[in-house]
Amino acid sequence: MNPESSPAGRPDVLVVGGGIGGLSSAFALARQGLQVRVLERAKEFGEVGAGLQIAPNCTRILAEHGLLDEAKTLGVVPENMVMRDALDSRELTRLDLRDLEHRYGFPYMVIHRSDLHGIFLRACERAGVELLTDQTVVGYENIEGGARVLLEDGRTEEASLVVAADGLHSVARRQLVGDDVVSSDYVAYRAAVPIDHVRENGVAEKDVTVYVGPRCHFVQYALRGGEMFNQVAVFQSPKALAGQEDWGTPDELDAAFEATCDTVRKGIPLMWRDRWWQMLDRDPIDTWVHGRIALLGDAAHPPLQYMAQGAIMAIEDGWVLARHLSNTAAQRDWDTALAAYQAVRVEHCRRVLTTARAWGDLWHLDGEARLQRNTIMRGRDTYDYSFTDWVYGPTALTPDEEPAMFTSIPLSSVSVESEGTELTGGAAR
Ligand SMILES: Cc1cc2nc3c(=O)[nH]c(=O)nc-3n(C[C@H](O)[C@H](O)[C@H](O)COP(=O)(O)OP(=O)(O)OC[C@H]3O[C@@H](n4cnc5c(N)ncnc54)[C@H](O)[C@@H]3O)c2cc1C
Repeated sequence: MNPESSPAGRPDVLVVGGGIGGLSSAFALARQGLQVRVLERAKEFGEVGAGLQIAPNCTRILAEHGLLDEAKTLGVVPENMVMRDALDSRELTRLDLRDLEHRYGFPYMVIHRSDLHGIFLRACERAGVELLTDQTVVGYENIEGGARVLLEDGRTEEASLVVAADGLHSVARRQLVGDDVVSSDYVAYRAAVPIDHVRENGVAEKDVTVYVGPRCHFVQYALRGGEMFNQVAVFQSPKALAGQEDWGTPDELDAAFEATCDTVRKGIPLMWRDRWWQMLDRDPIDTWVHGRIALLGDAAHPPLQYMAQGAIMAIEDGWVLARHLSNTAAQRDWDTALAAYQAVRVEHCRRVLTTARAWGDLWHLDGEARLQRNTIMRGRDTYDYSFTDWVYGPTALTPDEEPAMFTSIPLSSVSVESEGTELTGGAAR
């Protein structure tokens, strides 16, 4: 017997966490013929929240997994992504999502989070993944030929590989890396409501619209074949800036959007007020693989969500890891596959994390800087893809496949005199 093969009852891979990252990875690994067991802390598999945007770098992987048609049935393929100024509602820039699909070969979609999660859950069931709930992992250790997890009830489980996909507040990350989450002082409110509730609000049902404003932004798009409408309201919390514990409360939501345009203000009363998401991320790290324990998804790289790539990066991680394991399938060389996974994913996700932070800064500008940003964005050609090629193209399997990043345009390259009056804009595209 190959000393590395699994003893009876012991899976090849333990995946800790049954969110989108854990389940999509479990499915990708099971497709390579591996025995996979998922350990999820919750009593049931599920997702909290509303919509997710999934760009072509994700729909390409869904297609390869044979899951894109199901996603299309449950989601929506919008026509445009339009960015507007949240104060005066003027259009700043847009992506023509039909043209974008031609460029990248796969659609830009939006889908309810629980629908995408359900797609992976059913795919895992079909692929024979063992799906266990009510399993809280509290510790990790490497052992000869694999790794072991300790559960809250004192039991242990072992496998040749442990994938820690336990999210932003990952136990594995705390034990193996020991860093802290970083607060942005911003908070998100979400809502998914029947489309009838917003029809009078001047919304664009066929587009993803992002309103960017001083210290706030607001996102809207239709879900579930157009029957529902998703909204995300994000703002900087004065209480967070003041160091108060209880920050991001509904009174702050109302105040943050007071000065915005009609369509945004009409959307605010529809936001869910019983739950909000403080926007936290972590600094990028270089080491995700510790022996036979690999961090994945938000456990490895939780972003601020401004690039709408968090769940996508998690899905990409699992796909890349599975591809590298398939390359070494003959001798099942776990360590080589893990090294290849880390070699390519760390740098890509570092780029997304740092760009998401910069993107947030750009969206939330006020005063003259806001006008400079608007001038630059309005000067962008709709069909200029230099800002998306690095992220929406095929997911790199090796560092040399990782595309070059875009070149940013400094705000100082344009000057503005007063609201909407551009003096020079020559350097802006
Ligand atoms: C407002 C907002 C909007 C977003 N929009 C987008 C978007 O449009 N597109 C996009 O791609 N991303 C988006 N994201 C990011 C995305 O939601 C996350 O990056 C993604 O869900 C992370 O998935 P994950 O599986 O890694 O982690 P999680 O979803 O956090 O899953 C972790 C799982 O592990 C389980 N778990 C935790 N601890 C343990 C333990 N000790 N033992 C066992 N199980 C455990 C949890 O119960 C959970 O099921 C958004 C995020 C926010 C907040």
